[in-house]
Amino acid sequence: MLATMDIATTLVERSKLQDLNFQDIPFGKYFSDHMLEADYENGEWKSVEIKPYQPLLLSPSIAALHYGQAIFEGVKAYRDVNGEAFIFRPQDNFRRFNVSADRMQMPHVPEEIFMEGMKQLVALDHKWIPEKADHSLYIRPFMFSSDELIGVRPSEKYKFLILLSPTGPYYNAPMRIYVEEQYVRAVPGGIGYAKAAGNYGSSMYATALAKKKGYDQVLWTDAFEHKYVQEIGTMNVFFIIGDKAVTPGLELGTILDGVTRNSALTILADMGYKVEERRVHIDELMEAYKNGELKEVFGTGTAATISYIKELRYKDFTMNFDCDSWKAAPNVKKTLNGIREGRIPDKYGWMVKVH
Ligand SMILES: *Cc1c(COP(=O)(O)O)cnc(C)c1O
Repeated sequence: MLATMDIATTLVERSKLQDLNFQDIPFGKYFSDHMLEADYENGEWKSVEIKPYQPLLLSPSIAALHYGQAIFEGVKAYRDVNGEAFIFRPQDNFRRFNVSADRMQMPHVPEEIFMEGMKQLVALDHKWIPEKADHSLYIRPFMFSSDELIGVRPSEKYKFLILLSPTGPYYNAPMRIYVEEQYVRAVPGGIGYAKAAGNYGSSMYATALAKKKGYDQVLWTDAFEHKYVQEIGTMNVFFIIGDKAVTPGLELGTILDGVTRNSALTILADMGYKVEERRVHIDELMEAYKNGELKEVFGTGTAATISYIKELRYKDFTMNFDCDSWKAAPNVKKTLNGIREGRIPDKYGWMVKVH
């Protein structure tokens, strides 16, 4: 591991922690006392600092606001049964962050700033990691272009920040999902595999239409035939078909390479499922449903971990699932949460301790 980097740190005068009601912390609403901020200019990262959480002072002409060079990550920190702080698989988020940076023609954030900065920030604000089961501290690293110039070209200046947001149990009742055939999230050659801000802005319209029809989210399909399924909203999707666990493959660059997806694949294989990463056609799913082979459908992602799907609607065909009888998804959820909260041995080496 890298040597401890010297990060200039300015502490808050008064912590906001006592103002927080841990009984009621909606996702993404509250932020911890401190944040990390770094600036890229003239080809190098400089002025890495940890300071009180505060507004940024930015020119209205900054490039990110106009042309969307902006990427982010989502990571979580947990407290184990002994009260010690751990971050779940941050190295995977670090790698993915720079994959997104490449695609958006942005500079890499060096490992020492991303990893060491995250650890030092979490260590400083470790009291913000809620102690209760199903609670965690959401970590939001992000980067955007900050040239003060209205011209379409890659920026010369960038800002990288990390925010921390305590979060309670993500209330996820089993969802009703609409298979989207008109609007698309990702195309081969596009930016679907990057955690780029524009992917989220561009998905809201179709999601709002699905909500109007009474669904919680859309299941995105491929841009050409609208037959091959991709992801559910901002989660990867899994199908339990007989003794197989199937999820869309990464090869076309239209799927976000989720850390939770990868963890679920590992756990499902350990549970004895045959795991398959490949193209999944909607007709295959309907066929398997009619035969009674399609047993479970669920989404995976850092925010909600595992989300059960109770209804999948494709054209006039509705697939219903009895989530209470499921085996795979609840088991994956239990194992993942157990590892993260230190109740199950971390045999995969996923937890990184914060000193
Ligand atoms: C972040 C994200 C996921 C889930 O990735 P995790 O690393 O598991 O949090 C899945 N799909 C999309 C589109 C995402 O943005």
